[in-house]
Amino acid sequence: MTNSEQERWSRVKGRLRSTVGEDVYTSWFARMDLEAVQDESVHLSVPTRFLKSWIQAHYAERVLSCWQAEMPEVHRIDLSVRTAMRCATPAKEVPAPVEARRPERSDAKPVADTRAPMMTPVAAGHDALGGSPLDPRLTFASFVVGRANTLAHAAARQVADGRRGDPVMFNPLYIHAGVGLGKTHLLQAVTWAGNAGGERKVLYLTAEKFMYGFVAALKSQTALAFKEALRGIDVLVIDDLQFLQGKSTQAEFCHTLNALIDAGRQVVIAADRPPSDLESLDDRVRSRLAGGLVVEMATLGEDLRLGILKSRVAAARAHHASFDVPEPVLDYLARSITHNGRDLEGAINRLLAHSKLNNQPVTLDMAEREVRDLVRPQEPKRIKIEDIQRVVARQYNVSRSDLLSSRRTANVVRPRQVAMYLAKTLTLRSLPEIGRRFGGRDHTTVLHAVRKIEALVGKDITLNDEVESLKRQLQD
Ligand code: ADP
Ligand code: MG
Repeated sequence: MTNSEQERWSRVKGRLRSTVGEDVYTSWFARMDLEAVQDESVHLSVPTRFLKSWIQAHYAERVLSCWQAEMPEVHRIDLSVRTAMRCATPAKEVPAPVEARRPERSDAKPVADTRAPMMTPVAAGHDALGGSPLDPRLTFASFVVGRANTLAHAAARQVADGRRGDPVMFNPLYIHAGVGLGKTHLLQAVTWAGNAGGERKVLYLTAEKFMYGFVAALKSQTALAFKEALRGIDVLVIDDLQFLQGKSTQAEFCHTLNALIDAGRQVVIAADRPPSDLESLDDRVRSRLAGGLVVEMATLGEDLRLGILKSRVAAARAHHASFDVPEPVLDYLARSITHNGRDLEGAINRLLAHSKLNNQPVTLDMAEREVRDLVRPQEPKRIKIEDIQRVVARQYNVSRSDLLSSRRTANVVRPRQVAMYLAKTLTLRSLPEIGRRFGGRDHTTVLHAVRKIEALVGKDITLNDEVESLKRQLQD
């Protein structure tokens, strides 16, 4: 490559850096190299498939226009993934990144090249890193699959069944769900199953453990050892990411994530909210998290609750053969303990304890007494008008601004009326207030909508189902 090409490339990178900002630049472009310029096309390379597809999906035009600003004749950008050989040469021309601690930049440490295709397994491994304790009961065998978690389960299974060197299908796998819906169970199942063959190393860490381990390692000057050990890991599993806090922890988390993903290692994450709602994380981390497969686990349906109860009873019976929970009791529990898996587990534990201590069989009466406090009357959740608008817009495939607009086409009018109806029935807002929140409409318009939908749900089964489903989505 000629010097003038290199100079151009530096200028293009400068443009890119100033259009996307320092953070985005460092995250996505710092490791992009110029391979060749040929006639109308520029050939660039990056170290991983993930970076390639991300840049293609999000920044292709930006990159092209930065080139065109330097060389108007360029009409095409080819992006390829560098081979391991190519990777091994230090990318001297890459400007020093803002994060001095980025592992692959630490000078001349042989272990520091995270782009090598196969990282040396580090003997210190799992134990030295102090993976969080695993519960032997939380396996795939005891995980009940239902509508709420089919996709999450399939993705987790895929990760667990992968072999060393297999191409990574999605990275990171990000699973989110509310409390007690099975995130930890699924993550630990992946860890158990993934480690079972002995071929791969799967490390399970809570975000707190990650912070604690890292901070502790920094204090004892063994940050490098920690990173080295991390490099010996095939799959890193991080639970409860919403607890990750602190600027430097985040930076480290980001580097670890990048290093692992770039090296083709799988990362699995669980949190109680989607990446976009992790307010304390910075944009770079969020976009990286959102760049893999993001799966939500829904609230447990009644079938799933029944399945979980049965699986818990079966587990208890392994140690207490005489323990039995009659079908009607299971039905009662599945119907009335609606909130989360932890309460289901708690209910079975109590029945077990009670029947053992008093040497009595489980009956419906006893169950009702024992689990009364778990059957909370659903304290009405405060529902916001924005939530209603968002959920309705999603269900009917219109935008929220359509709902607030003055458009009168049928595909917008009905969803708008449904949303107003829900606002009236699910919140304590007055008609004028609702009118204001729907693009400044008159209270009589709101009243009309409410009456209209009230009348229709009695006759129109489809609409009734839609409204019920919306209510469920909002109340869960
Ligand atoms: P989370 O981490 O999402 O808060 P957990 O994984 O700790 O939830 O689940 C809470 C309890 O519910 C655990 O006892 C777990 O085994 C059980 N549970 C949740 N979902 C399932 C499921 N699909 N199959 C079996 N047990 C489940
Ligand atoms: Mg959990």
